[in-house]
Amino acid sequence: MESELEEAERVGVVIVGGGICGLATALALHRNGIASLVLEKSESLRATGSAIILQANGWRALDHLGLGIASLLRQASLPIDSGRLVEVDSGKESDVLLGSGELRCVKRMDLIKSLADMLPSGTLKLGCRVTSIERDPFTRRPLLQLHNGNLIRPKMVIGCDGVNSIVADAVGLRPPRTLPMCVVRGLTTYASGHGLENKLVVLAKAGLQLGRMPINHKQVYWFMTCRMKLWTRRETAIAKDSNIIRQWSVESLDDFPMQDRDMVARSDLPSLHLTDLKYRAPWDLIGAGFRRGPIAVAGDAMHAMGPFLAQGGSAALEDAIVLGRCLSNFTANNLNLRRRKMTSEIEEAIGEFVALRRRRVMRLSAQTYLMGLLVQNSSSTIVKLVIRTFIGILFGDGADHANYDCGSLSADNDGHCEL
Ligand SMILES: Cc1cc2nc3c(=O)[nH]c(=O)nc-3n(C[C@H](O)[C@H](O)[C@H](O)COP(=O)(O)OP(=O)(O)OC[C@H]3O[C@@H](n4cnc5c(N)ncnc54)[C@H](O)[C@@H]3O)c2cc1C
Repeated sequence: MESELEEAERVGVVIVGGGICGLATALALHRNGIASLVLEKSESLRATGSAIILQANGWRALDHLGLGIASLLRQASLPIDSGRLVEVDSGKESDVLLGSGELRCVKRMDLIKSLADMLPSGTLKLGCRVTSIERDPFTRRPLLQLHNGNLIRPKMVIGCDGVNSIVADAVGLRPPRTLPMCVVRGLTTYASGHGLENKLVVLAKAGLQLGRMPINHKQVYWFMTCRMKLWTRRETAIAKDSNIIRQWSVESLDDFPMQDRDMVARSDLPSLHLTDLKYRAPWDLIGAGFRRGPIAVAGDAMHAMGPFLAQGGSAALEDAIVLGRCLSNFTANNLNLRRRKMTSEIEEAIGEFVALRRRRVMRLSAQTYLMGLLVQNSSSTIVKLVIRTFIGILFGDGADHANYDCGSLSADNDGHCEL
């Protein structure tokens, strides 16, 4: 059997991380005739967090990816038409601002699996952890070390290895920051149907929020965010055991409506996940390179943001399409160019990708950051008013982030951006 080393030398493009961004990027490259190798550290497909809200821009990116993936996912998820925020104590209701256009909640495993299933066999290598990344001092090619001691020297590396990315370290990005919050996510299945409306409902009380939205007629995705100062040993212990996560969540929701506590109490144990929240601050992205030579980052590795705008996954899909388009000239033919010329063309294509994405991810990151300040609920009414004014000035009605079209996979179409 061909070793990873030989395969990577042959294929040329190595993608580190087989999450949403890594798999979508491999598929975008494949659709443009470029083979790649995806190295994923988990032994099986990984879909932490049970479900994900995909907004209109994410659906557009999936449509550009083609292969019927978007329609398959649409069949498995209900369209969400609006969002409502309810103050538990007063019963006061207001609208939750959702991005305009199509919005659905899909099971992460459905998304990950539909991407992985479309890849040519042998593209995805599970159980393959990259432990370090450097550049060969003589050839300047990337040098990846794997957990099993193997070294591989691809022509190009794309780091889609999430918020704790080692590729981001290698291109010189600052480490991500941690928010003083944690989030529990889960799924609840109602065998005879949940009977809920197609709405996102968020219940809020004193620094605690419980959101829920239907995926289909039987399953509901829910998330609970709570304020905390530090991720302590207590949270670490809770996070390890789904039974304790469930019990702790139900207890935390003491004063919440019975029906919602019951939803959490009945949640599917394997779906439960408790995490802290990491992000790259907008000002950390301003001068960030996002690449070094033929090594670049995409998805959360590039622009991890809090979940307050529910845009991280959709933005990762956009990255995949734009990368696929920028690299579309790298067919098998010019991977055979003389080394020096090929290296400079690869670097030029990666530079184009970074230039195309920088403004978009900075805007998303800034809007998410401001939304996060509102959700954290620790600011005074005046500060909140100032934040809302800022959001209004910078982002209009605040729903435009989902109008973005990253453009198609074809090199003749750069797309357009409606901001
Ligand atoms: C609480 C919460 C709620 C969210 N809700 C939403 C939402 O509703 N909508 C939305 O759009 N976004 C949401 N997001 C953001 C979204 O989950 C991310 O933006 C998205 O998963 C990013 O995909 P990715 O592929 O870049 O990274 P990841 O999904 O983190 O995938 C990275 C992959 O790389 C692998 N990996 C890591 N290191 C290595 C290594 N050294 N070697 C090999 N493999 C490696 C990991 O195992 C993983 O499979 C949410 C995030 C959080 C935390």
